[in-house]
Amino acid sequence: MRFTGKTALVTGAASGIGRSAALALAAEGANVALNDVQGGSLPSAEIGRDRSSEHLADVSEPSSVERMVNDVWDRWGRLDVVLANAGINRDGFLEQLTNEDWDEVVRVNLGGAFFVCRAAFPKLTDGGSVVITSSVSALGNRGQANYAASKAGLMGLARTLALEGAARAVRVNAVAPGFTDTPMVRAIPDKLRTKLVERVPLGRMAAPLEIARAMLFLASKEASYITGQVLFVDGGVSVGL
Ligand code: NAP
Repeated sequence: MRFTGKTALVTGAASGIGRSAALALAAEGANVALNDVQGGSLPSAEIGRDRSSEHLADVSEPSSVERMVNDVWDRWGRLDVVLANAGINRDGFLEQLTNEDWDEVVRVNLGGAFFVCRAAFPKLTDGGSVVITSSVSALGNRGQANYAASKAGLMGLARTLALEGAARAVRVNAVAPGFTDTPMVRAIPDKLRTKLVERVPLGRMAAPLEIARAMLFLASKEASYITGQVLFVDGGVSVGL
């Protein structure tokens, strides 16, 4: 039980990778503060009300994020792990992307992680850990200029915060998932999804838990000398580029 006695905040915990990571953290002993913008499917019942708390907030709203982190602190009195995971996509080729598509994706994906880290950093226990969810799309992906730019920005954010947190032994890393079987990708038409899966050397999508396991590794003591890194969990897609 790598996280017994620890408190973890997970953003975007009502679905997909965040939900899976929240359940995995709880299974390894953590108390889990669960954030999402709506929250219908937050896994509080599975984890237990005594071991989890719900925090509905839009990560792209700085004042809501400040409030959320204060609420987490009031409920648990400590913060050891932050998974800055909430994210969205609004895909389209360059000429089709609207100002709103750009603003929304950059504000939620990049702004959201920045606001969460800025609010959480002062409260993080010395030796605590942040894992930011980037994406293999940060390396470039047709039809995702806004998303790719936001996810590439997260790599710079993780590396910079790793330097700023190091004096307190706060480690900051990122995971860069490949194609993962969550509601985000289920929206892709079947034909295109099959084509995308064919490009994955391991020949399949990831299960959300396979990404969550990498996040927990980076957040745990097992990764105590790893900071400022991006771990690609992508079935080999990035090495095939
Ligand atoms: P998902 O199933 O759509 O889960 C994302 C969760 O974040 C949803 O519950 C969503 O709520 C929530 N969310 C969206 N905007 C938010 C906001 N402003 N504040 C708080 N919560 C918000 O997607 P996922 O695939 O698990 O994605 C998790 C992370 O992994 C994202 O950062 C995504 O970019 C990244 N990622 C995913 C893949 C993939 O193939 N699935 C690959 C690489 C990276 P609503 O559903 O109500 O919007």
